[in-house]
Amino acid sequence: MKEKNVDFAAHPVDVNWGAFLLNFLGNFGVPLVLLGSLLLAFPRTPSGPNLPFGLGRSKAKFQMEPNTGITFDDVAGVDEAKQDFEEIVEFLKTPEKFSALGAKIPKGVLLTGPPGTGKTLLAKAIAGEAGVPFFSLSGSEFIEMFVGVGASRVRDLFNKAKANSPCLVFIDEIDAVGRIRGTGLGGGNDEREQTLNQILTEMDGFAGNTGVLVIAATNRPEILDAALVRPGRFDRQVSVGLPDIRGREEILKVYSKTKKLDKEVSLSVIAMRTPGFSGADLANLMNEAAILAGRRGQEKITPKEIDDSIDRIAAGMEGTKMIDGKSKAIVAYHEVGHAVCATLTEGHDPVQKVTLIPRGQARGLTWFLPGEDPTLVSKQQLFARIVGGLGGRAAEDVIFGEPEITTGAAGDLQQITQIARQMVTMFGMSEIGPWALTDPATMQSDVVLRMLARSSMSEKLAKEIDQCVKKIIDNAYQIAKNHVRNNREAIDKLVDVLLDKETLTGDEFRAILSEYTHQPLKTEDRVRIKDLISV
Ligand code: ADP
Ligand code: ZN
Repeated sequence: MKEKNVDFAAHPVDVNWGAFLLNFLGNFGVPLVLLGSLLLAFPRTPSGPNLPFGLGRSKAKFQMEPNTGITFDDVAGVDEAKQDFEEIVEFLKTPEKFSALGAKIPKGVLLTGPPGTGKTLLAKAIAGEAGVPFFSLSGSEFIEMFVGVGASRVRDLFNKAKANSPCLVFIDEIDAVGRIRGTGLGGGNDEREQTLNQILTEMDGFAGNTGVLVIAATNRPEILDAALVRPGRFDRQVSVGLPDIRGREEILKVYSKTKKLDKEVSLSVIAMRTPGFSGADLANLMNEAAILAGRRGQEKITPKEIDDSIDRIAAGMEGTKMIDGKSKAIVAYHEVGHAVCATLTEGHDPVQKVTLIPRGQARGLTWFLPGEDPTLVSKQQLFARIVGGLGGRAAEDVIFGEPEITTGAAGDLQQITQIARQMVTMFGMSEIGPWALTDPATMQSDVVLRMLARSSMSEKLAKEIDQCVKKIIDNAYQIAKNHVRNNREAIDKLVDVLLDKETLTGDEFRAILSEYTHQPLKTEDRVRIKDLISV
């Protein structure tokens, strides 16, 4: 950019190390300073330079937008949430109408849902529809190195808001301050608690009808302090989930309005192929496709650009192709191993394509098309995923011999171990029986909390869990190895073709495989393509 005289500035990405370290320091004191700096020495996030202890961070305060200019029409695919909010818009528009009747206006609404599903956008739309100012601040920005800063920021924010009422205050990532008090790595954390207490005090403080509505967003409602969700505070919860197929189509409509699409492009097909994509992913998808079409010198976006962009968003950037040689052959066998083991195991999703073109971290990829309802998965389907996931390693093992197995299976092993563990501890799909052996609140949170949960479990039970997990995986591995042994001829042929063509479509793959196997591959009832996931 310097070369071309482009005006630019560089800012470090604002990762919340401050709060992170505070958590540690507050509870364990000095010994962990060492650990903390060790952690910092191994950058885990691909971000710019971070200064520890929140030093050098901008004193970012809240932002105010007098008019967001966003309406409900800009938010697609979340009709239920929108309905909930229409009432709230009324409150904000004409508070008198409700107070005259003696109705208390709700003070707080908690928006829950995964990142990128449009929570911020929805909050802005409420302000936009009601024509009131929009104040926003992220929970993690409250927390600074020094005790008391967060609380005074909360006071500032609410003073400003009250002076501008009616208005809407949006607190993103409320879990950063609103986590259950007294947990978080063993003890309390003064700064966080003070900030939380200040929010609670402010919310209690405004008499029923000041016209300040607080909307908070989180993707982890289960870890919030009970005091936050009590009546009179964030007593309304609206959840915004990942969009379903119809929702995705609606969102795609919003983002294709400004784009030039070839008439071959069908938004409903894109929607079918993108389960698990959030609104933000879909917006990104359309943009990537437009950029790609531009780079290819086209006037319109064709299905090819959309396909490539889906691959890119789901699996990362395309890498340079491997040169022919032993590692390319190993990767080919590994991927064909996945595809064959998955296809021959009842209940597995069909192969969409097998490719040797590297993407992201992966040197080759096997893509699958998830079935009808990806949210309701049977034991057989989970087990089939484990067999398919082990197919890569099984092929390396059977074909090249145990000493030659590679590190390439690390990602697969992580995935299948997690599935097996969840089968045992969450879904009651093992000999232990229908027990929930994990507490959802501790599921994804701190490592230490998980360790504590585990240590509160009887040693015998913990051991049984491990045994069951191991047994599931051992079984699946035997099955996978058998699939490879029994289909050696087909696999050799498939690898030949794959090395030659680099990519095999699902149909090409099944055509070759069926020449060698008598097992019906059942493509017909699997044609209702839903999407790609990769192993
Ligand atoms: P969240 O706050 O839930 O993490 P955001 O509201 O910040 O998500 O969404 C990020 C971006 O993704 C939005 O600015 C918008 O461009 C797009 N987006 C997400 N969900 C939707 C949706 N339902 N309709 C339209 N656009 C959406
Ligand atoms: Zn693999």
